[in-house]
Amino acid sequence: MTQPAPAISSFHPPRRILMGPGPSDVPQRILDAMARPTIGHLDPAFQDMMEQIKTLLRYAFQTENQLTFPVSGPGSVGMETCFVNLVEPGDKVIVCTNGVFGGRMLENVKRVGGVPVLVEDAWGRAVDANKVEAAFQANPDAKILAFVHAETSTGAQSDAAALAAIARKYGALTLMDCVTSLGGTPVLLDQWGIDAAYSGSQKCLSCTPGLSPVSFSEAAIAKVRARKTPVQSWFMDLNLVLGYWGGEGKRTYHHTAPINPLYGLHEALVILAEEGLDNAWARHRAMHEMLKTGLEGMGLAFVVAENERLPQLNSVALPAGLDDAAARARLLNEFDLEIGAGLGALSGKIWRIGLMGASARRENVETCLKALGAVLA
Ligand SMILES: *Cc1c(COP(=O)(O)O)cnc(C)c1O
Repeated sequence: MTQPAPAISSFHPPRRILMGPGPSDVPQRILDAMARPTIGHLDPAFQDMMEQIKTLLRYAFQTENQLTFPVSGPGSVGMETCFVNLVEPGDKVIVCTNGVFGGRMLENVKRVGGVPVLVEDAWGRAVDANKVEAAFQANPDAKILAFVHAETSTGAQSDAAALAAIARKYGALTLMDCVTSLGGTPVLLDQWGIDAAYSGSQKCLSCTPGLSPVSFSEAAIAKVRARKTPVQSWFMDLNLVLGYWGGEGKRTYHHTAPINPLYGLHEALVILAEEGLDNAWARHRAMHEMLKTGLEGMGLAFVVAENERLPQLNSVALPAGLDDAAARARLLNEFDLEIGAGLGALSGKIWRIGLMGASARRENVETCLKALGAVLA
């Protein structure tokens, strides 16, 4: 028999200020909620809480969609849930890429046997609606338009209302990644006519990672129900998940829900409802303005043009000659501050400073500017 490792005892993480691309700072209220007693996932009290989460998520997404719930898994599982259900082998899907996460959408379309039609835009730019229109003109049989609302790899925001309107004109469904936008900038599913959307718990909702709120319109559900082939994934098959998250009352076992993380999401959504979406959006914008003034004062230039810029994800070009990894290590070690590095093509070229959820507050902006000032001096 092997021996236990006696030198290893409880883990106590350092206290950090999280200003990267997620996770964001998790308020103590949410951590406290997650420490409450674990109960059974079919306990009536738990089921009541599940219903409240669905109601609170409808508010966050601004939708009446009945099928609105958190997938048990990170944002990436929410993404796969959307693609694996909505795309049948042979379906043509117009996929917009302007960063890392659009690229993942493309990968999903390929893996589920869809036929991707790629609309490419430069990293750091929004999705170009004219290119999307042209793609539909050339492919009027396309069934779905997929795009990332808030591209976290660059900090660019696309015009979701305009893109969804084009898809509707051609009779296609719209599938949107709003992982980084939900709770930080307006996400208006019903007003914009979005058919499927996925988000994440750890960005502007400021909960711990591992849950992915999703929402599906009646048209999206009809497409899933009309499939000729079964959904390839058992776990993510909405027809099966529906019996667990869908029905009021009679719930059947599908998988064991992550009980305590769901307490956390419930609390995060209560906090958002207490603040109000309008106020949350205004706070993200105000903190962005404050950060921007400070960053530009230090001579740091934004990567994304002002009219396409996300307030909750600030990408700035690295000063020439700066050692990226060493500078970020100093921020972490001396200031307990985490900011994000560049991803993919932008690796080593930019920093991504997140102002997501509870991280979008005055003290964080001040600490960040002070720390950056010291490191860049
Ligand atoms: C973070 C993120 C994801 C992935 O979420 P995970 O929780 O890391 O799986 C997907 N899309 C966007 C735009 C993101 O920012």
